[in-house]
Amino acid sequence: MSRHAVVIGGGIIGLATCFEFQEAGFEVTLIEPDPISGATHHAGGMLAPTAEVQYQQHELVPLMRESAQLYPDLIRRVGQHTDLPTGYRTEGTLLIGADRADGQHLTELIDYVKAADLDIEPLTTRHARQLEPGLSPRIVKVAAIDGDHQLDPRLFARALYDAVLSRGAQHIREAVETITPQAVGLTSGKRVAVESTGVVVLAAGLGAAKITGWFDGEHPLQLRPVYGDIVRVRVPEALQPLTNRVIRGFVEDRPIYVIPRDDGTVTIGATSREDSPHPRTSAIHDLLRDAIRIV
Ligand SMILES: Cc1cc2nc3c(=O)[nH]c(=O)nc-3n(C[C@H](O)[C@H](O)[C@H](O)COP(=O)(O)OP(=O)(O)OC[C@H]3O[C@@H](n4cnc5c(N)ncnc54)[C@H](O)[C@@H]3O)c2cc1C
Repeated sequence: MSRHAVVIGGGIIGLATCFEFQEAGFEVTLIEPDPISGATHHAGGMLAPTAEVQYQQHELVPLMRESAQLYPDLIRRVGQHTDLPTGYRTEGTLLIGADRADGQHLTELIDYVKAADLDIEPLTTRHARQLEPGLSPRIVKVAAIDGDHQLDPRLFARALYDAVLSRGAQHIREAVETITPQAVGLTSGKRVAVESTGVVVLAAGLGAAKITGWFDGEHPLQLRPVYGDIVRVRVPEALQPLTNRVIRGFVEDRPIYVIPRDDGTVTIGATSREDSPHPRTSAIHDLLRDAIRIV
């Protein structure tokens, strides 16, 4: 008899969790009012254990590296249960320093990344522009990270959702309010029983902070929203492909990325702020200006 897993939240984490439970022989119930509507819908989709290395966070490096190594197999296995595309691409990433100070920043980052035993290769700007003619002639420093890949999060999440449903998952289109050892309580007042051998996974992103019943005292998840602006533009036919690799860089110390997609669009991101969920014209201007500085 198969065991039962209840997964709360249908973003990339919840859907991938549903998929892996099915791989392990579980019956799965997904509870999600509006699949792929959270951070997953807005994300860049860079699978970047090297470019994302942060000073003082070296404990994360083995996890990031292993996570990236798991992706090709995950993509392959999901593809056995759906025909939908994932936007998974392995051309790699170029990291750019726009001016001299950004170049110095990049030099220090290369040393830090190498010390973490991750692969990064400095290139001459001439060599980089042979690889990617769309790069600006004004950039001063470049490094190649062949192991940093990308997927299209909207496409991959849809592929996961399709695969999970095709394997028989039940989808309840409602929001969860409470979790107890016996049941998951929905906003409609209905309850989904949890078997004694069952598993409940809370993967509701920011929404997890409002779900109660599974702890004593103060809510253990003190989450706060961080918003970001991200721009998607269609590249004219004559300029296709703008680049083949993901281009990330620093422009006057501001991070910027340009992600080419299979559908001829590029995704340019991202700002990061905590004040308002609404997009800003000034942020769109800043993103386009910095992207044009490197591509
Ligand atoms: C602008 C931007 C760019 C990013 N770029 C990258 C990147 O390049 N690479 C990278 O690795 N990460 C990136 N991220 C981070 C990435 O988006 C998140 O880490 C990831 O999407 C989190 O997925 P999730 O499934 O945990 O959450 P979400 O995608 O937010 O999904 C949570 C789901 O839970 C559901 N939910 C909420 N409350 C309830 C409830 N009460 N009951 C049931 N369901 C509920 C929501 O409807 C939602 O569908 C980026 C994020 C942003 C904002």
